[in-house]
Amino acid sequence: MTVQLVTEKGKEKCDPAFTKEVMERSHSHLERCYQCIACSSGCPGAYQMDYPPHQLLRMVQLGLKDRVLDSNTFWICLSCETCATRCPNDIEIVLVMDALREIALKEGRKGTTKLPLFHATFLYMVKMFGKVYELGLILVYTIFSGNILKLKGLMRDAVLGVKMFMRGKLAILPPRVKGKAQIKRIFQLSSKTG
Ligand code: SF4
Ligand code: SF4
Repeated sequence: MTVQLVTEKGKEKCDPAFTKEVMERSHSHLERCYQCIACSSGCPGAYQMDYPPHQLLRMVQLGLKDRVLDSNTFWICLSCETCATRCPNDIEIVLVMDALREIALKEGRKGTTKLPLFHATFLYMVKMFGKVYELGLILVYTIFSGNILKLKGLMRDAVLGVKMFMRGKLAILPPRVKGKAQIKRIFQLSSKTG
């Protein structure tokens, strides 16, 4: 039987299997959340999120899969752990965000932002060079996101890039890292278990 919930967006489907999957992947006791909002009050990324962390958790509890996976919240999350530190019920919200990214990628959900592309580009750089290669990341992301066609933003990024280079924060060449083969192996293994 399909359970529906009437929300401010109309009738929405509730998917208990989604809630279960998030809890299993994140090893989190989401049922403990009593909406005290301590997590969202300290979240540095909340102002950019479609839903602050406490609201997202409530929607996961309710199984509002589509609304959760189409939101930008878990892509924006910085994994800073502030929320988990403040939570009185020891809910590992960062692991919940990780679980949502995994499910979104598994299901090919792209959401409404370019953040999944940024994440994929970031991980590709780590896989190829052993750690993030900022200049490569900027170039690849700028091309594939279509930002290359936005001249104003391009100029702004170029000016910022030059400033960073002058301060030694941006290297021209990729980093030299030991153990690149092992890092690639980690990626191979994680793609098999994902
Ligand atoms: S880990 Fe993510 S959700 Fe938690 S406070 Fe940091 S940015 Fe916000
Ligand atoms: S701090 Fe913990 S209990 Fe409070 S709303 Fe956030 S997740 Fe729920």
